[in-house]
Amino acid sequence: MELFSSIADWRNYASEVRASGRRVGLVPTMGALHEGHASLFEKAKSNGDVVLATIFLNPIQFSVKSDYEAYPRVAEADRAVALANGVDCLVEPTLEEMWPDYPEATPTKVTMKGVSDTLEGEGRPGHFNGVASVVAKLLTVTGPCRAYFGEKDFQQIAVIRQMVRDLAFDVEIVTCAIKRDAEGLALSSRNARLSPEDHTRAKCISQAIAAAQAEVECASELRHRMRTILRAAGAEIVYAEIVDNVTLRPADDSQAGDFRAIITAKIDGVRLLDNGPVTIKAKN
Ligand code: AMP
Repeated sequence: MELFSSIADWRNYASEVRASGRRVGLVPTMGALHEGHASLFEKAKSNGDVVLATIFLNPIQFSVKSDYEAYPRVAEADRAVALANGVDCLVEPTLEEMWPDYPEATPTKVTMKGVSDTLEGEGRPGHFNGVASVVAKLLTVTGPCRAYFGEKDFQQIAVIRQMVRDLAFDVEIVTCAIKRDAEGLALSSRNARLSPEDHTRAKCISQAIAAAQAEVECASELRHRMRTILRAAGAEIVYAEIVDNVTLRPADDSQAGDFRAIITAKIDGVRLLDNGPVTIKAKN
């Protein structure tokens, strides 16, 4: 596995891969790698891509500085996970090269409206502008044929697709299903902050998503089912919504078809995300 940190080396590597006629698959991460990240590496590998993973803890997507500071930094362990899961090239860009003006505000940014403002965007102002900006830079330096994102961060996918469309990035966005632990909890670096009891309690989130996958005729019934399960388990609901797959606008009760159930809830202060596909039956 190649290991780079400078933009020059990283760019050279990717252009040599392209020149040799192979495809580069980019997998952006913030580190603290687990099986969810590994599933993205495996998917890129199975598509025949040369897998280029990045680990960059991006400060400009954190609205609260203490969250950035508390984020796990486990470079040695991450390198082992990347190596064991078929990553061909691991890039650990430096903060100095990614955001040369940090901690001053970055003068050049990707900003967005619409999909970035709702759900996660409401409680975390500027978060998705930070995400879009860093992904734009990773795409620009790497020039991948495909880039891989997990459905665990469903809104992030909508934001990236919007940016790729609007700025005409020449890349295919590939999405991967959510990886879960034995109790059904979506894997996340934040799960380590849960006590064993809270971990069991957090099952209510995937159970609420599953309850929304029942065949019913209106979105408000699905919302009600999700919220009832979350409240019964004592979870603090940030949102529990049924939304359009692309615009992320809430479904109204006159609509039928395919939507997304999407939840963020706090269990003892730990913010957990989950989502899943739902279908609302047409009324007869
Ligand atoms: P992060 O390091 O949290 O920025 O995540 C990097 C990528 O891994 C993102 O595309 C995430 O959606 C994806 N990812 C994180 N957790 C999971 C999971 N449990 N299942 C699938 N993909 C995941």
